Amino acid sequence: MYVCGMTVYDLCHLGHARVLVVFDAVTRYMRFSGYDVTYVRNITDIDDKIIARANENGEDFSTLTKRFIQAMHEDASELGVLPPDEEPCATSSMQDIIKMVQTLIEKGHAYTAKTAGDDAPGDVYYDVSTFEDYGKLSGKKLEDLRAGERVAVDERKDDPLDFVLWKAAKPGEPSWDSPWGKGRPGWHIECSAMSTCCLGNHFDIHGGGQDLQFPHHENEIAQSEAATGETFVNLWMHNGFVRIDNEKMSKSLGNFFTVREILKLYKGEEIRYFVLASQYRSPLNYSDQLLDTARTALSRLYNTLRDLDVPEEYDENDAAVDKFKQAMDDDFNTPEALAVIFDLANQVNKLRESDMGAAVQKAAVLKKLANVLGLLEQDPVKFLQSGAAESDDGADIDALIDARNAARENKDWAEADRIRDELDAMGIVLEDKDGKTVWRRS
Ligand SMILES: [Zn+2]
Repeated sequence: MYVCGMTVYDLCHLGHARVLVVFDAVTRYMRFSGYDVTYVRNITDIDDKIIARANENGEDFSTLTKRFIQAMHEDASELGVLPPDEEPCATSSMQDIIKMVQTLIEKGHAYTAKTAGDDAPGDVYYDVSTFEDYGKLSGKKLEDLRAGERVAVDERKDDPLDFVLWKAAKPGEPSWDSPWGKGRPGWHIECSAMSTCCLGNHFDIHGGGQDLQFPHHENEIAQSEAATGETFVNLWMHNGFVRIDNEKMSKSLGNFFTVREILKLYKGEEIRYFVLASQYRSPLNYSDQLLDTARTALSRLYNTLRDLDVPEEYDENDAAVDKFKQAMDDDFNTPEALAVIFDLANQVNKLRESDMGAAVQKAAVLKKLANVLGLLEQDPVKFLQSGAAESDDGADIDALIDARNAARENKDWAEADRIRDELDAMGIVLEDKDGKTVWRRS
């Protein structure tokens, strides 16, 4: 499976988080189902936006991209996203990219710029008219595209829809040597080259955000199939858009909407749960309320596992396993899969009152299935007692609870109430569990 990854000139936003989480869950589920998965997610580490941002900052482009690759890895880890098996970068795939452009020229699918004006000697374009199936992924037709799009006439191209494979370098830009002079690859060709290089000419799944279907993925098909003569990909998966309630966003988060902004208020696993609570193709609507719902849901699940010694082995024949698989086999229906997990939690909570042994057995199924979605991987008490970055005040809650218990023993009710109020104000919930007082953050 190849998934289009980040262009690393800024911090990841919620749209990036969705791609990371969705395809991580897909990989985990396919492995759980017995498939041998090689997951490749690329990094676009050279493009116009990167060059522009590095110039703005007055730094080398590679200093900028290194910083944001590091930041992306940190965000992914907060979201419980496992590293892909391979993570190729455009800048380290130049030979493969150049080779593919050469093949496309040799086979008559690409040409160098018609007029070598001062601004672009050495540009190479893909000739869309040479690829009969152009538009087969998005259902678009060349005639309609030509009629419908106001594409600026560009005298260097045969057809306004032709797209760039190799961009000649302007003075001062980072560049690589090529048969067409110094330059850098277009965005589309890097994904064709990197996916083929890692997975072969023909592979199973290609994923990415819905916004990439056209033209990015359409162009990848045109490039790869023209270059190799083989079918490129068996299955395309596109996750839906992320929509944001702007009013709410500006109120609570400001308008710079990055994963890091959300991580100040919510834990990574809460964001992950929120993403998986929608099926991947549906639009994902952000609101604080939905993040709060995710928080409550996860607290309930962790509370269910609290203080249980859950074994690794689980009963594969439990009816819930089958239901979970049915949901996930139905185009990765994660909301339905989460419903199965909640049903299991209800069963565990009931069994905890009557049959601890059976509760632990059920909890093993619950934990296993949640783990397949990358959830409930933390220690329950740690999760329940830790806050998101901003709510973690570092207070010693256990010491406060001990002080309250001491006050009660001394019949100092005023002091006991005062501490209780203090804990309330901090969002600490006290609960009786199996005869002990335990606490968690609300
Ligand atoms: Zn791509």
